[in-house]
Amino acid sequence: MTTCEWVGCADVATHSVDISFPEGVHETWQVCRAHDRILKLQVVRGRPKAPPPADTSTSIEVCCGECQQTLNESSSLPDDQRQPCPNCWSLTRTNKITFVEMLMVHESLHHRSKQPGKGDWMRDFRTGDDYSQYLEGWGERVLEMDREQNIYREVIKLYDDTRLASRAQLTDHHD
Ligand SMILES: [Zn+2]
Ligand SMILES: [Zn+2]
Repeated sequence: MTTCEWVGCADVATHSVDISFPEGVHETWQVCRAHDRILKLQVVRGRPKAPPPADTSTSIEVCCGECQQTLNESSSLPDDQRQPCPNCWSLTRTNKITFVEMLMVHESLHHRSKQPGKGDWMRDFRTGDDYSQYLEGWGERVLEMDREQNIYREVIKLYDDTRLASRAQLTDHHD
């Protein structure tokens, strides 16, 4: 029997958790059921979330219709109030519409410069989030339960390419 590798835990290790970080680091943990859960939660929380969808805003630039010079004039200004273009004296105008993509970058997208060693990433962990929502925005989760062979397997693939595979005997995997 192996003892749970979690610091301070003396329970029997029933779960084997493989973690592979996109930085190329691999970790394998032998943990008890409770720490299988905490370990997964901490890995997920420690990784960057998917970026939110880009927000698009529009800007309109007013240009002279003849010489294309950019004019300091509102696009909503009525025709009869236009001043002649200072460059060519034309009163014709073209509006150039620019779409600006504003990508809100979540602060957690900044990658850590340090390579994670075993358990290193746990120090930055922020608590207080609900486990049931822990994968929202982070990635996908595949569960396999084989009752005949008594195998439980869970694979979590995160947005940033972190992969986590948890294995246990199905009978050991209960809440
Ligand atoms: Zn434990
Ligand atoms: Zn002009």
